[in-house]
Amino acid sequence: KKINIALCGLGNYAGLLAQGIQVSEYCTLAGIVTGTPSKAEKWKKQYNIPEKNIYNYQNFDEIINNKDIDLVYVVLPNGLHKEFVIRAAKAGKHVITEKPMAVTVKDCDEMIKACNDANVQLAMGYRLHYEPYHLEIKRLGQNKVFGQVRFIEASLGYKTYDTTSKAKVDKKDRNEWRLTKALGGGPLMDLGIYCIQSARYVLGEEPIAVTAQFGTVNDKDRFSETEESISWQMEFPSGAVANCNTSCGFYVDRFYASADEGFFEMSPALSYGPFVGRTSEKELKFPVINQQKNQLDGICKVLAENKKLPDHITGEEGKKDIKVINAIYKAAQEGKKIFL
Ligand code: NAD
Repeated sequence: KKINIALCGLGNYAGLLAQGIQVSEYCTLAGIVTGTPSKAEKWKKQYNIPEKNIYNYQNFDEIINNKDIDLVYVVLPNGLHKEFVIRAAKAGKHVITEKPMAVTVKDCDEMIKACNDANVQLAMGYRLHYEPYHLEIKRLGQNKVFGQVRFIEASLGYKTYDTTSKAKVDKKDRNEWRLTKALGGGPLMDLGIYCIQSARYVLGEEPIAVTAQFGTVNDKDRFSETEESISWQMEFPSGAVANCNTSCGFYVDRFYASADEGFFEMSPALSYGPFVGRTSEKELKFPVINQQKNQLDGICKVLAENKKLPDHITGEEGKKDIKVINAIYKAAQEGKKIFL
C-alpha cells in the first residue's frame, strides 16, 4: 500500500516535494490544501488530483471524512505549522511537518499531544536523515571512527537578499514571512536549524549550554524583526563544542568535525547538494540522490507497514531543535551563556 499524501501549502518547497512524491515508491500525491484557487486549478491539472481531494484553509477540517487521504504534509510558513498539524491530527491523519517544527516549545508540546490523542504519527521533514553523506557523518561521529569528536564547525547561509544594496527595499517580496517574527522568520529558524541538527546527530548528544551573537545588520529595512545573521556556540556533555553561523545576507554551506584521530568535512554540506566530502583518510563518495524522495520513502515505508517511526524523525526530535533555537536567541539577546 502507498500512503496518500495531501500537501498543505503550495509554495516553493511544496513544488520540490511534489517532484519527490512523483518518483517515490511508498507515497502518492492524492490531495492539496491551498488558499489560492488558481494554484488549486494548476496543481489539479498537473498532478491529476480529484476535485474531492482539494481543500482550502477554511474547509480543511472536512478532510476527516476523506478516506483517500492518509497523511497531511504541512509546508506552510513556520508559524502556521502548529495550527495545521493539530487540525490534521484531529481529522485522524498522520502528519509530516516541515522544519522548524514550530516557534515555541509549548507549541511543539501541543502538536505532539494532539497527534498522540488522535493516535496518529507526527514526523519532521528532516531530509538529511535519509541522505547518504549525512548517514555517513552520523556513523563516523557516533561510532567514534576517528575517536571522540571534539570540535564542530557548521554553517548554512544564503544570499537570500541583496542586503548591501542602497536601493529602496521592498519588504513585500516572496519571502516576506521569513522576515516576520510571528511567522517563524529569521535565518536561525530557517537554515541554522541544519547546523544544530548535524552537530546533534554527529555527536549523538544534546547541547547543555549555548552562547550567541547577532551579526551585522546591513539591511535595516528588511531586518527590523528578525536577524540578518547570527553566530552561536554549543557545548555538549562530552566536552565537544560546535561553532555555527547562519545568515540570509551571505552564502556559506559547510560542516567540519575534528576528532582525536582525524577529521571529516563536507562543503557543500547542508543544502540540496550535490555534496562534496572527505575524511582525513579519503574522499567521501556517495550517489547523488533525490533528497525529498528518500525522506518521503523513509517515512512512508514505516507508516505503510503500520510501524512506529524511529525517534530521530518524530515531533520529539523537532522539539529538541526548537528548545536549542530559543536558547540561542535568548543568549544573543541577553549576551550571556544560557544553560539548557
Ligand atoms: P514559500 O513562501 O515558497 O511558501 C509558503 C506557502 O504558504 C505559500 O504557498 C503561501 O501562499 C502559503 N501561505 C499560507 N498562509 C500564508 C501566510 N499567512 N503568509 C505567507 N504565506 C502563506 O515558502 P517555502 O520555502 O515553500 O517554505 C514553506 C515551509 O517549508 C517552511 O516551513 C520552510 O521552513 C520549509 N522548507 C523546508 C525546506 C527543506 O529543505 N526541508 C526547504 C525550503 C522550505
